[in-house]
Amino acid sequence: MKPRIVILGAGFAGHTAALHLSRLLKHQAEITVVSPGNRFTWFPSLIWVGTGTMPADNVHFTLAPVYERIGVHYVDGRATEIHPDENTVAVERGDGSRELRPYDYCVNATGPFLNFAATPGLGPQTGNTWSVCSVEHAEQARDHYLAVVAELEKGQRKRLVIGTGHPTATCEGAAFEYLMNVDADLRRRGLRERADLVWLSNEPEAGDFGVDGVEMLNFGRLVTGASLVRGLLDEADVRSIMAAGVTKVEPGRVHYEQAGADPASLDYDFAMLIPQFRGIPLRYVAADGSDISKDLTQPNGFMSVDGDYTPKAYDQYRGSDWPAVYRSPRYENLYAAGIAFAPPHPLSKPKKSAGGAVIQATTPRTGMASGIMGRTVAQNIADQIGGRPPSHHARLSEIPAACIASMGNSFWSGSAASIIMTPVARDFERYPKYGRDMQLCTLEVGLGGAWTKRALHSAFLWKLQARPGWPLIPE
Ligand SMILES: Cc1cc2nc3c(=O)[nH]c(=O)nc-3n(C[C@H](O)[C@H](O)[C@H](O)COP(=O)(O)OP(=O)(O)OC[C@H]3O[C@@H](n4cnc5c(N)ncnc54)[C@H](O)[C@@H]3O)c2cc1C
Repeated sequence: MKPRIVILGAGFAGHTAALHLSRLLKHQAEITVVSPGNRFTWFPSLIWVGTGTMPADNVHFTLAPVYERIGVHYVDGRATEIHPDENTVAVERGDGSRELRPYDYCVNATGPFLNFAATPGLGPQTGNTWSVCSVEHAEQARDHYLAVVAELEKGQRKRLVIGTGHPTATCEGAAFEYLMNVDADLRRRGLRERADLVWLSNEPEAGDFGVDGVEMLNFGRLVTGASLVRGLLDEADVRSIMAAGVTKVEPGRVHYEQAGADPASLDYDFAMLIPQFRGIPLRYVAADGSDISKDLTQPNGFMSVDGDYTPKAYDQYRGSDWPAVYRSPRYENLYAAGIAFAPPHPLSKPKKSAGGAVIQATTPRTGMASGIMGRTVAQNIADQIGGRPPSHHARLSEIPAACIASMGNSFWSGSAASIIMTPVARDFERYPKYGRDMQLCTLEVGLGGAWTKRALHSAFLWKLQARPGWPLIPE
């Protein structure tokens, strides 16, 4: 019988794993993807959906025909339990039926649970704040943003607050892009003068992005992301409130604690605030039926893999703490990739509010990193099926990240900050001065980035639909 590989989740990590497994093992393994909704979402373009500058239909595609073409089974459903002793996954299908699906190898690539409830009053379900973390959320954000635009057009003044909605939220880069796109859109409409834009973020300083900032050497001179982002905010006349952890939201009012200041609050007319992310609420069940989720996950609900999770002080963290092969230390046929794996520690420096609350940007697992992890897990499973130990590594302290932060979607007047950092997680043992290879770190702002961002949208949607030549396009 062919080995059965079951991938949970069809996002950046799970879908990329499926593409590579089909390339590597099409006739040697039975590959199944379990994911709800039968669609892939290209998250980077949701910021444009949220400002009404791109239709929602442009950012997703239907998965089933792609899987049919590449010989992968697709199950429209949601995993609810993993039984790692019995090698089965409990699946609730879209039609309401349930099944126990057996596997020889399982990949947990279920992404984040958007934990709005961690901040009282936060999130679209309360009607107080909006989000761009899914197609539906971005559409809601767009509708409420456009309602504010209509009020601005009548001559009213409005305050728009954009940023993070929890002291330990992540994805600051996406929130920053949304902010800069709102700024660009309001300027295009001639309404910027009437709008008070506020950047409210849990990052210790502007430009941290949850990765302890970025920098480059320009003819020997250090250029930091912090100075670049501060300059962009000043130029756009955006007020910033940094190291701020949102504690509560009421209709039209956001409350936050801030390092080095008393608790404060701010009135607003529109708010897009990213929630805390947790692991998807999957139960891990032992052979005797007992719940072993605590043994297989970290307190944030993400799955433990081959990282070093020993608690340490911030300055004691090492590059080698980061997982390399993304396999569970307890089950050698169970992997986690993308946002679903538990980072061993944050990269961003912690701050404390006067009340003692920790304000710390959580490590992002961006689309590029999640795709690289998906490919790495596919290669490691192929190794195991071929009788070899997993040999492919993708530590965050080894792999690069390229980010293009859009600041306007126009081909003529758009702009973007293009950032490359290598590696994502600083490794001071390998690179004693900056923790990164400064030959491979760059920061640039300009119209070229806006063109590249649009080109990547098309190139990646081509690749992810497994169209001819897809393996030539890197993750
Ligand atoms: C607005 C926004 C903009 C962004 N912009 C960028 C950018 O410009 N560049 C970049 O690199 N990154 C960007 N990101 C981050 C990027 O989207 C994430 O890093 C990436 O989506 C993580 O991939 P993933 O596969 O781990 O999770 P996801 O892509 O979220 O995929 C998770 C999958 O699991 C499925 N799933 C959930 N629960 C279950 C279950 N119980 N059983 C089975 N399947 C399940 C989901 O339906 C989904 O298919 C952005 C994110 C946002 C929100």
